[in-house]
Amino acid sequence: MFYFVCRRGTFRLVAFFHGLFSAQYLRPKTSSFLRKIGYYPLTNAMELDHQICSRARLARDARFDGKFFIGVLTTRIYCRPICRARTSKECNVRYFPSAAAAAEAGFRPCLRCRPECSPGTNAWVGTRNTVSRALQLISERGLEDGGVEALSERLGIGSRHLRRLFLRHLGATPSAVAQTGRLHFAKKLIDETNLPMMQVALSSGFGCVRRFNEAIRSVYHRTPTQIRALTPRTPGQLQNRYLFHLHYRPPYNWKRVLQFLAARLTPGVESVDSNGYSRCFSVNGVAGDFSVSHEPEKNALGVRVHFGDPHSLFFIIERIRAMFDLNADWEVIAKTLRSDPALARLGDIEEGLRVPGCWSTFEVTVRAILEQHVSLERVAALTSQLVKAFGQPFSATKKLAHLFPTPESLAAANLASAGLPHAEAEAINAFARAVHAGQIKFEGISDSDAFLRQLCEIPGIERSTAQHVAMRALRDPDAFPAADPVLRSIAGARTTRELERRSEAWRPWRAYAAILLWQSASNIPAIPAHRAAQPSRLASIGDSRPMKADRESAAHLGPR
Ligand SMILES: [Zn+2]
Repeated sequence: MFYFVCRRGTFRLVAFFHGLFSAQYLRPKTSSFLRKIGYYPLTNAMELDHQICSRARLARDARFDGKFFIGVLTTRIYCRPICRARTSKECNVRYFPSAAAAAEAGFRPCLRCRPECSPGTNAWVGTRNTVSRALQLISERGLEDGGVEALSERLGIGSRHLRRLFLRHLGATPSAVAQTGRLHFAKKLIDETNLPMMQVALSSGFGCVRRFNEAIRSVYHRTPTQIRALTPRTPGQLQNRYLFHLHYRPPYNWKRVLQFLAARLTPGVESVDSNGYSRCFSVNGVAGDFSVSHEPEKNALGVRVHFGDPHSLFFIIERIRAMFDLNADWEVIAKTLRSDPALARLGDIEEGLRVPGCWSTFEVTVRAILEQHVSLERVAALTSQLVKAFGQPFSATKKLAHLFPTPESLAAANLASAGLPHAEAEAINAFARAVHAGQIKFEGISDSDAFLRQLCEIPGIERSTAQHVAMRALRDPDAFPAADPVLRSIAGARTTRELERRSEAWRPWRAYAAILLWQSASNIPAIPAHRAAQPSRLASIGDSRPMKADRESAAHLGPR
């Protein structure tokens, strides 16, 4: 079992290898060759453990995919740990904490294992630190408007400090990380789509074709057209239809993610069936749809996007990655959760749990407001009516018939006409008005506490509702709905404060602990509290928001 620990302000990869070898912590080797081609001395601060990286590389261990990259001195190429190419001698390889660090050191991405397909470099994305927030903002194109200065301003720190943090944890500057991200996405579009190169250049954020051609040629020593010729083409790709494979670090509990989404889907906007999940959406006024299925043999999700504006593909793909929690590192999370006896007694922790996110924060908040005092079955019926009355028609199919209504359309709408109860209708009107007026913003949130406060200021939004929204929308793995009465009763805590205190042991993975608690409730009939709190129809984690009566009874159930 492997995990990162924080020690003296840096992160260290530590091995717990049951009886096979004892962990020894060695610094990565450097060489005169690497120094000549610009190896950042600060990469050392990441303290990648040479021996663990080496074992993971030799075993081609997929659990390490994206946690480090391997530079091969003889070929000057960098690879993922799972690369099937012939294994190089240990003396000929160097380890890097990110693809950008390997690129900055002068290595080129491998055309065989395709580093652009790795699940991401966020080994410690769970920690509430500045770097993981910065990476999120970069993935939302945070460097494009204003560069590093604007990014650091949004994070509330100086740009020099941000640069230092990036060098320490990722071995590369924010600009280098963003540039590598652009290149990787361009490579993905070249390989996996039939888009003309001009569109590839603009969609991956290069601004012009000349810069794109230069960047690809200097990194891959080939033109974009030559690279495309190397990849077998998928026949019959239709215009505006794309198939991507988004990889994760195994294990991935697809069944639970799908159950969660199925229990809370908006009929007519989203759909779940045996093939997977699908939904329709709108970005910058253009409507489209996507579907997601599981491809376990590839450790990937297959994502089919149907969308008319390729410039938004990066945004769409990043949002789907977040929605399905693909960057999570289960080995690290499980280590924390299993170490708490209170969680351990709830039963065997299922492998590969994820915290399902959402496509739209607005949409998930509107649903959450309805769920406060209405049963799940009724919420499904009400959202269906809401969508039919105020959403734009999308397709003739019943599955994806309407887009979810916009904040503008719900701000002044007579929601009672769609059958919504008076109190919920008023809260949704007030929330939609605040979003439409720009008082509540969803993009680039860097302070989840401020976001919670803003939501709670809307009359009719309860604190537990705001916490649920934050957990699903902000991609904060430490978000925790401590005010949820059901969660309290499952955990046997009498008050919110008591549950908060107990959840300290689960930091920085409290969102995963919440998922685990809800899910385990259906497996442990020995605890009397949960039975009433989680009636038989609440058999899955997806049914975590019970009806009002359940919530009231749950509020009385904790041992007093
Ligand atoms: Zn490779």
